[in-house]
Amino acid sequence: MTSTAAEGPVAQGGEERRIIVMIGAPGAGKGTQAARLAATLGLPHVSTGKLFRDAVHSQQPLGAQVRSYVESGSLVPDDVTVDVVEQRLRQRDARDGAILDGFPRTRAQAVAFDELLAKTGARVAAALYVEVPTEELMARLTGRRICTLDDQHVYHIVARPPKITGRCDLDGARLEQRHDDKPATLQRRLDQQLPPMYDVVDHYADDGPLFSVRGDQPADDVTDELMGALAAVARSDGA
Ligand code: AMP
Repeated sequence: MTSTAAEGPVAQGGEERRIIVMIGAPGAGKGTQAARLAATLGLPHVSTGKLFRDAVHSQQPLGAQVRSYVESGSLVPDDVTVDVVEQRLRQRDARDGAILDGFPRTRAQAVAFDELLAKTGARVAAALYVEVPTEELMARLTGRRICTLDDQHVYHIVARPPKITGRCDLDGARLEQRHDDKPATLQRRLDQQLPPMYDVVDHYADDGPLFSVRGDQPADDVTDELMGALAAVARSDGA
């Protein structure tokens, strides 16, 4: 990855830096929630899935390295993933912290991340786990359709259909099903990704603070609970 003038040390600011980790299965809604928290807290939303997809689409060397994993729904190797996150957190917009969406996804990533942050006296401020039953995940993901212009514009063929079939309400662009949301890939994605995700939950349950929130409730309620959890962390840090 190239360096830019906007880069700085990975963990400037030490304890004052707010590094928030969002944990959740594919389809749990953690991306939507991460975007909301990022906007409210004024921190960048760092999605490793998006970083990888963008690298594939823009044909960066990283894209060639990760394409087969991303398209087949397997996890990208830990060393590559940790390196991408480290580089991203060096960007100046992350100097006060970041909302990490989809990272860490394995215990090894969680441990490497703790070590990386500890080098400059920082740590994960909170791990937020958005929990959704597996049957509901399948229904959510097979019906999910994404805008081809902006992947934050997300629809569902039953639960949140666009006004015009196949077109984004916001910009009129074509909607598509993510390659890895197709049923054949999806089952493998869940089979491969859920066990290591539970390890990550255990990691933060031990080394916390971990907060679990039910993701099978209205999105606004999920956001309120997550903000409540962050407020509790801020209070305990200030105490
Ligand atoms: P997502 O958009 O979070 O569902 O991620 C899409 C794909 O990117 C995943 O299925 C993996 O192939 C890859 N990916 C994203 N985050 C990670 C991670 N932390 N570790 C390994 N692979 C990842």
